[in-house]
Amino acid sequence: MRVAFEPIIFPEERPPEHAALCDRCELSGHRNRVVWGEGNPGTSLVVLLDNPGARENREGVPFVCGTRETLQQAAAEAGFRPDELYVTYVVKCRPRKAYDKPAARRACSAHLSFQLMRMRPKLLFCLGNVALQSFLGDPEAEVKTMRGSWIERAGMAVAASYHPLAVRRRPVLYAHFLEDWRRVAARYRAETAAGSLAQAGKADNPPSRQPY
Ligand code: SF4
Repeated sequence: MRVAFEPIIFPEERPPEHAALCDRCELSGHRNRVVWGEGNPGTSLVVLLDNPGARENREGVPFVCGTRETLQQAAAEAGFRPDELYVTYVVKCRPRKAYDKPAARRACSAHLSFQLMRMRPKLLFCLGNVALQSFLGDPEAEVKTMRGSWIERAGMAVAASYHPLAVRRRPVLYAHFLEDWRRVAARYRAETAAGSLAQAGKADNPPSRQPY
C-alpha cells in the first residue's frame, strides 16, 4: 500500500546569469524561462530528467505535474524528505512542439556539466533513457539493463530508473521504480552518514597548529 503524501512545488533555483538568456538551441524560442533546477541545491543527490514539464496551468497557477507527483511519491516512500532532493534536466527549456532533440541535448550539455561541477553531488539518479543516454554520452545505454547497478562517473555514483511518466503509464513498473529509489536512499544515507562522521572527526581533531 502506498504511503499518504502531499505533492509539493519544489522551489526553483534561478539560472546563473550566463544561462538565463541562453539561445544555444531552438528551445530558446519555446520557453518562457530557463528552468535550471528545483529543490535543494545543497543536497548530495541530483535527480536528472529529460526536460522540464508544465509548472503552471493556463491561468499561470503553479501546479505539480504527474511526472513530479510520481517522482515525489516514490521518493517519500523511500524515506526522502523533500529538502534532500534536487531535480534538474538534460535540456533546461520546456519544449512546446517538435524540435531537433539531439542538437538541443548536445547544446545544453554544457549547462549540465557546469551545474554538476558547481554542485558536486555524490549521487546522480537518471530517470529515463534520455537522461541516462545523454549523461553517459552513450545512445545504447538503457535503464532496463542498468537499473540495480552503480557506475562511477565524474566523481559521482550514478544509478538509473524508469521515467516517472513511463511509470504512470504502466503502473506495473512502480514496484521496480520504488525498489530503485530505495537503493538510492540506502546509498544516500550511507554517504551522508560518512560525510557527517568526517565532519565530526574534523571538529573533534582540529588540525594541529602550524609553528610560525
Ligand atoms: S535548452 Fe539549454 S541550450 Fe537550449 S536554449 Fe535552453 S538553456 Fe540553452
